[in-house]
Amino acid sequence: MSVSLAVAAIPEGLAAIVAVVLSIGVTSMSKKNAIIKKLPAVETLGSVNIICSDKTGTLTQNKMTVQRYFNLDGEIAVERDKENAATEDAKLLAKAMVLSSDATYENGNGTGDPTEIALLLLGDDLGIDRKTVNAENKRVDEYSFDSDRKLMSTLNENNGKFTVYTKGAIGNLLKISTHVLLNGEIVPITDEHKSKYNDATDAMSNNALRTLGVAFKEVSSAIPATEMEKDLVLIGVVGMIDPPRSEVKESILKAKQAGITTIMITGDHKNTAFAIAKELGIAENIDQAITGQDIEDFPEAEFTEKAVGFRVFARVSPEHKVRIVHALKSHGNIVSMTGDGVNDAPSLNAADIGVAMGITGTDVAKGASDMILTDDNFATIVSAIEHGRNIYNNIKKSVIFLLTCNLGEVVTMFAAILIGWEAPLIATQLLWINLITDSFPAVALGMDPGSPDVMKEKPRNSKESFFAGGAAFHLILGGFLIGALTILAFWFGYYEHGYSPFDHSVPAEIVEYARTMAFMVLVMCQLFYSLAMRHSSKSIFQVGIFTNKYLVGAILLGIFLQLFVIEIPFMQRAFHLQMLDLQGWIMAILLGLVPLFFNEILKIFIRARNRKKGV
Ligand code: ADP
Ligand code: MG
Repeated sequence: MSVSLAVAAIPEGLAAIVAVVLSIGVTSMSKKNAIIKKLPAVETLGSVNIICSDKTGTLTQNKMTVQRYFNLDGEIAVERDKENAATEDAKLLAKAMVLSSDATYENGNGTGDPTEIALLLLGDDLGIDRKTVNAENKRVDEYSFDSDRKLMSTLNENNGKFTVYTKGAIGNLLKISTHVLLNGEIVPITDEHKSKYNDATDAMSNNALRTLGVAFKEVSSAIPATEMEKDLVLIGVVGMIDPPRSEVKESILKAKQAGITTIMITGDHKNTAFAIAKELGIAENIDQAITGQDIEDFPEAEFTEKAVGFRVFARVSPEHKVRIVHALKSHGNIVSMTGDGVNDAPSLNAADIGVAMGITGTDVAKGASDMILTDDNFATIVSAIEHGRNIYNNIKKSVIFLLTCNLGEVVTMFAAILIGWEAPLIATQLLWINLITDSFPAVALGMDPGSPDVMKEKPRNSKESFFAGGAAFHLILGGFLIGALTILAFWFGYYEHGYSPFDHSVPAEIVEYARTMAFMVLVMCQLFYSLAMRHSSKSIFQVGIFTNKYLVGAILLGIFLQLFVIEIPFMQRAFHLQMLDLQGWIMAILLGLVPLFFNEILKIFIRARNRKKGV
C-alpha cells in the first residue's frame, strides 16, 4: 500500500517529459534560424520585454551603396555603373578608401565588410583602377578597425614613400586631423572647415545615410600603429545607404503589440540611427536618441533612471552596451541584447538573453550568447520570442496535466486508506500509468501548435508563479475529480458482483476486477482530460480537436495500450487484471468522460466571467 502511494505521489515521467518538450521546441526553432544554446533560455526568452538590437545588418540589409560624397569642393552624388566626372581630390578620396579597406570585389562578388565593399565600388564608379592602385601601394602595416576607436588605418608604401590612410567615423577623424585637402592643396584645418564637414555629415545622416570619412598623411618612414592616427589630412566623407530589411517594420509592430519594446543600439551616427529608427517605428522623437558621449556625461544614477526612456543609442562602444543592459535590467526588465564583436561578450553575458549573429558574429560573441541567429535578422528574434512563449505555455500544460494525474492517483490511494479499503491500484499499475499512458498525451501537449493570441498578450512576469492564472485551481479540481471517479469505479467493481469494499472476505478475483475498473477509469479520465488542458478558457471545439493531431494520436494510442494489457493474457497476469464485462466497459467509458465534460461546463463560466471583465 505504501509503495503504491509513493508511486502515485511521484510524477516519474515529469523530468524526462519536460526535457523532451524543450528539445522538440528548440529543434523546431533551429529550423527557423534561431539556435538556442542553453535549454532553459527558452523560458527566459518567453518573458523578454526589451529587445536591444544592433542596427547594421540586423535591422538593415547590410547591403551598402555609396550615394554621395563630400569634400570641400562641395557635395556630389555618385551614379552607380556610370561615368562620374571626378576631380583629383575626389579620386584621392576614392583611392584612400580603397587602400584602407580589407574587403575584395571581383567579378560581381564581394567578400568582407559590406561597408568596405561599397567603398571599393565607389572606387570603380570614380574610375579608380583598383588592381593597379593596390599593386603600386603595398600595404606594409595596419591598425585594424575596432568599435571603440571607430577608425581603421593602413600604412602603404609606394617606391619608398610611406602614406597612412585612415577611415572611420567623421567625428573621430575631425579630432585627429590637423589639415584638410582643399582644391588639391593641404591647408591647416579651421573651424569653418570643421563646421562644413559637420553640416554635410548631418545632412547625409538626416537622410538615413551611413557616413564614413577618410584622411591621410605622408610619413618619412614606417611608423608603428599607435603613431598612425594623429596629425592627419582630412580628404572627405561619403554617405552610403543601407536599406532597412523589409520584414523588420512588421516585426517591430508585432513586438509592440506583445508588450515588447525595441531599442536600437549602434556605433553609427546619431542622426543616421534616428532616421532609420523613425522609419521602422522604433522612435518618434529625436529626444529619444542619445549618444555614447551623452551616456558618459550623465551621472551613473541619473543614467540608470533615465535609460528606459530612450529608444536609440548611437555612437556607442561595447562598454556602453554593458551599462545600458544594467540600467534597463535595474528596472526589472528582461532584456535581450545582440552583439557580433569580440568586445560584445560582456554585454551579451550581462543581458538576460544574449543574442549573437551567426553570419557576421565572432566566435567569442557566439560563445558568450544564449541564442544565435543564423540569418542575423531582427525578425528572427521576435519569432524566437513567440516560440519561447508558446514553448513555455506548452510545458506548463504538460506539467499541469501530469500533476493533475498524480493528484488524482494520490487522492484515490489516500481516500482508500482513510476509509480502510484495499488499495484501488497496485504499484505496477500506477507505474504503467505514470510512465506509459500519461507520457504520450503529456508530450503531445508539449507539441501543441502555438496560440495565435500569444503575441497579443503582455510578456509574462518573470517572477510569476508557474501555478498562476488559475492553473493551481484547475489542478486541484481536476485531481480531486479524477480521484473521486476512480474510487467510484473501484466501488462499482465490487457492487457489480454483490460485494462492498468494506467486506472482509472478498474473493481475490473480485478485488482484481474492482482494481481493473479503477485502473481503466483512471486512465480514461486522464486521456480524455488531456484535451481539456489545451486552453484554460476556450472549449475544445473552439480550439479544434484535430488541431493537435499528436494529442488525438496519443489518446488513441493510450486506449489501444489499455486494451493491450487487458486482452493479452500474459500482460493481464503481469498487471493483475480481469476482463471487464459489458456493464464494466460502459461504466469505464462514461466515468472516463466526466472530467472533460465537467471542465467544458466550467469553461463556459470562465468565458462568461472573462467577457464581463472585458478580457
Ligand atoms: P554598427 O554596426 O552599429 O553600425 P559599427 O561599430 O560597425 O556600428 O560602426 C560604427 C562606425 O564605425 C560607423 O558609423 C563608421 O563610421 C565606422 N566604421 C564602420 N565600419 C568601418 C570600417 N570597416 N572601417 C572604418 N570605419 C568603420
Ligand atoms: Mg558593425
